[in-house]
Amino acid sequence: MVSRQANAVVVGAGIAGVSATFHLAARQGVDDVVMVDPRPPLSLTSDKSTECYRNWWPNEPMVGLMNRSIDLLEDMAEES
Ligand SMILES: Cc1cc2nc3c(=O)[nH]c(=O)nc-3n(C[C@H](O)[C@H](O)[C@H](O)COP(=O)(O)OP(=O)(O)OC[C@H]3O[C@@H](n4cnc5c(N)ncnc54)[C@H](O)[C@@H]3O)c2cc1C
Repeated sequence: MVSRQANAVVVGAGIAGVSATFHLAARQGVDDVVMVDPRPPLSLTSDKSTECYRNWWPNEPMVGLMNRSIDLLEDMAEES
């Protein structure tokens, strides 16, 4: 068994884990981020999504969270 020390370990390679890993490595500059999952990335729930999103929610925290997420998506769309 090989043992090594990572600076961050993300458990689960669904969209939440892939996003967390991207933001740690590419946006926050954390090097040596390790993702662990017995399955291939995005192969459990995240590849089944209809890929719709909304910022209608009945409470302010969720509206704020979604607005920030939509801003991040739009930034990425412009970058790419
Ligand atoms: C048919 C369908 C349509 C949908 N449509 C939409 C939509 O239009 N809009 C929307 O916002 N959402 C939609 N969703 C919901 C959305 O797809 C999920 O909320 C989202 O994909 C969940 O992502 P996740 O990363 O949390 O989980 P997952 O994609 O399920 O990933 C979890 C990962 O963790 C791994 N894991 C679990 N336990 C361990 C462990 N102990 N160690 C290591 N790895 C582990 C699993 O193998 C898996 O790869 C839809 C869902 C379905 C099923």
